[in-house]
Formats: sequence, C-alpha cells, structure tokens
Amino acid sequence: MEYFYTKKTAWDELLVRLLVSHDIFGPVAGEHFQEYEHLSSATVPEVIYNRPKPASPLKIFFLPVRENVTSPRKQEKQRIIIGAPACDTEALGLLDEIYLDSDFEDVFYRSRRQNTIIISSDCFDVMEHCHCTSYGIRPWDEKKADAAVAVKGDTLFIRIISEKGRKFISDTGVFTPVTDSSMVSFIDSRHRETESMLERANRLLPDYARTGSLVKESGQALWVKHSATCVSCGACTTICPTCTCFLLIDKPGFHKVKQMDACQYPGFERTAGGEDPLGELHERFRNRYMCKYVWKPAKFHSTACTGCGRCIEACIGKIDKNKLFMELAK
Ligand code: SF4
Ligand code: SF4
Ligand code: SF4
Repeated sequence: MEYFYTKKTAWDELLVRLLVSHDIFGPVAGEHFQEYEHLSSATVPEVIYNRPKPASPLKIFFLPVRENVTSPRKQEKQRIIIGAPACDTEALGLLDEIYLDSDFEDVFYRSRRQNTIIISSDCFDVMEHCHCTSYGIRPWDEKKADAAVAVKGDTLFIRIISEKGRKFISDTGVFTPVTDSSMVSFIDSRHRETESMLERANRLLPDYARTGSLVKESGQALWVKHSATCVSCGACTTICPTCTCFLLIDKPGFHKVKQMDACQYPGFERTAGGEDPLGELHERFRNRYMCKYVWKPAKFHSTACTGCGRCIEACIGKIDKNKLFMELAK
C-alpha cells in the first residue's frame, strides 16, 4: 500500500482552498448521528475521520431521489466526497455494474462518477449493526475509492487507491511520501483490531453464500412471521447503499422524471392489468432478501449487501435481518 502524509492543519487548509473550485462533502456530527454536509470553511475542521458511519449511504451523491432526465444537464463543479466507509464504496461496484452497463448506460450516473473524487475513511471503530466482514468486505477500502485517509494525532495519512487519487494527491502539493513503514504500522494494527471486533460481534451470522441458500430454501411461513411488524415504509431499501430500483414517470411536455423506487412499496410490481406478483406484504418483504442474497449474486460480480447495517437501524418495525438469518442458521 502506498501512503503519503501531511499535517492535519495543512489538509484542512487545502480543503478550504479547494472550496473555490469544488463542492466538498464530509460527515460531521449531528445530534444523534453523523451525516454528510456540504462543507464550508467553518465546517472543514469538524469532519469526522475513522469512525463509522454517515447516516446516509454514498449512493445519494450518484442517484438523486428524483431528477428530470429530459432536461439539459447543468455544468456541475467537481466534487470531493470525504469520509465514505468501505461498506459504501464497495456498494459502488454494484451500482457501476448496473448503471454503467454498456448496453444501457445512465449518462447522468456516469457524469457524476467521473466528476467526483472519493476519499474513503478507514473504520477504526464499529457500530452495533456493522457486519461487512461477514460478507467478505474489509472495513477499509482497497479498490473502489480514489484514496483513503487515516488520522493519528495531528498527522493525516492518505493511501492511494486509483490513478485519479494519485493525481489528486500529486496536484495538491502538500503531501510527503511515507518511506518508513513504521510510520503507518498503526494503520495495520487498527485494521486488525476493527476486523476482530466485527468478527466477535457477528460470529453467529452465516456468510453471504450460506445466507443465500438459507433464504432460497425458506418457505412462506418464515416470511409471514418476520414481516408481521413491517409497515411497507421502504426505509430499508431507500437507505441501502446497493438498492438501485427506479421509476420513469411521464410528465407533460414530453418530460421524463426518474424517481427512486422500492420493492417494499405496495404496487411495486403491479401491472396495468391489475395483476401484482408482490401484492401480499410477506411477498414484498421476501423480495428484498431474494434480491440481495439470491438473484443479484447470480447475475452480478459485486456484493449486493455490504453489511452496513443501516436497514436494521432504519426499520420502524424493529426488524433485524441478522437475527432472522441467525435464527435460520440454527
Ligand atoms: S441490505 Fe442492509 S446491511 Fe445490507 S447493504 Fe443494504 S442496508 Fe446495508
Ligand atoms: S428489488 Fe428491492 S431490494 Fe432489490 S434493489 Fe430494488 S428496492 Fe432494493
Ligand atoms: S424498514 Fe422495516 S418496516 Fe419499513 S419496509 Fe423495511 S422491513 Fe418494512
């Protein structure tokens, strides 16, 4: 791994200078959780590093809830997104496979991806529902972001991941290469500690492939039982970094509006003739699990659940998918 370093104050000053030419986003503390903010010179020093995780997934920067896809595109400033955890950057793999498919490329998505530098933040801590390692994802990014940061005291270390990240680091002129590996040995230790915490917390959770088999083999009774408190709010899908479904809505003036959709909403698969294969609540509830652990793994290379745990935290019905899986695995 190739690291550079600079003073944390020099990094903050750099970001403030870059605000002139870039829109910069990073997680800052809210009353109950941390969330991405459009940074200003006042909030740059408040960005949270190395602690999981922003309330919203990274996909909000690439898949707006609603947009007119027939209106002319505005020229957007270059964007820098700081602090995305590995469970979110990993999710971009699936979004890229779907939205950059050569036969059906989404030009809006592509332009946002090209226009954005992603600087991930290694997780040196875990939250209650984090379970990335159970699905083979490390709590630090190695391949999907452009660079990743780790802060120790008044020094900020940055790891190059992509060529875009390398150019960014070189263009800034504030970084020095790390030539003595002992300077970054603390990062390896923190990685191991975070992995151990995750493995201890999720030791009873089946892995991704086994979860797929368990979900596939489960009968209707299981889905009826576990969907009893579901209210079809769609929070679990809206907040999921890998959920990608959308509607195209015709509007007067030959406009088309793309709006994010969710399989948990009644009518998600209703046809013009009135038929609805997901008409029953338990069928919609099951659909999300089949999508994430059975159908997507059969069609795509990327993982469709990155173990961020947000769907558990967001569920108004207090449904914990991991408890469901552990019960299934008994
Ligand atoms: S299914 Fe849940 S845990 Fe998995 S990526 Fe989506 S929100 Fe995160
Ligand atoms: S079908 Fe449901 S679970 Fe699958 S991507 Fe769409 S909203 Fe998410
Ligand atoms: S968040 Fe919970 S209550 Fe809402 S649709 Fe998902 S499972 Fe149902």
